[in-house]
Amino acid sequence: GGAIPDALSTDSQVVERESESVGQKTLRAHAQRFTFQAEVSRLMDIIVNSLYSNKDIFLRELISNASDALDKIRFLSLTDKSQLGEGDESKLEIRIKLDKEKKLLSIRDRGIGMTKDELIKNLGTIAKSGTSAFFEKMQSGGDLNLIGQFGVGFYSVYLVADYVEVISKNNEDKQYIWESTADGAFAVSEDEENEPLGRGTEIKLHLKDDAADYLEESKLKELVQKYSEFMNFPIYLWNSTE
Ligand code: ADP
Ligand code: MG
Repeated sequence: GGAIPDALSTDSQVVERESESVGQKTLRAHAQRFTFQAEVSRLMDIIVNSLYSNKDIFLRELISNASDALDKIRFLSLTDKSQLGEGDESKLEIRIKLDKEKKLLSIRDRGIGMTKDELIKNLGTIAKSGTSAFFEKMQSGGDLNLIGQFGVGFYSVYLVADYVEVISKNNEDKQYIWESTADGAFAVSEDEENEPLGRGTEIKLHLKDDAADYLEESKLKELVQKYSEFMNFPIYLWNSTE
């Protein structure tokens, strides 16, 4: 991964090291803090407070990102087979896990993953050209369903979650955790607590109380079927409380 671009040092900063409590969802105290790019922050505000009823779209966006990430590692492996790794790591697949007790839904891929710099750039500090266009569309009553077309589909996770962790491992870097409660800031830290992913990304959604539907196996099965129709990679669903 390259160096973090200059724009970042003015736009983001390491804020105080105390932990910030949101219900029981607390950003790691030792993590480095960043502020979202202003347009991203405004967009997240709209999403997290949205009464939009078709919240299912978050899963479509996550599956689409996982599929893109798998395409990228497969492409890299065409010229360098070692990029793919061995054993489980080489399986190009998506795994969705639900944990009713913890109200946790996780989507994990064995795609290309993100370096620390990429987590910071892609998920918060570099606004895509579509960000403000989509924000304006939303303000004038536009349909949230179009979010993916504006290149900001990831943030749809805040339709159903109030705290999101993104754990990622790229071949060029260590494993990192990105986390945010959508309140203008996010944090990034080296991951010294989760199982090593080998390679890829796991998105952990700490679901809002009114999004408990997404912990129902039948509901997820139906959605996965719908969104995986044109997918090149297998998606497995499992219930960790079983
Ligand atoms: P888009 O997919 O249109 O680029 P998103 O908001 O969905 O926009 O995602 C933003 C970026 O975050 C992606 O372009 C990609 O670089 C990164 N990203 C998101 N999810 C993943 C993932 N599962 N694996 C690797 N990179 C990801
Ligand atoms: Mg996307």
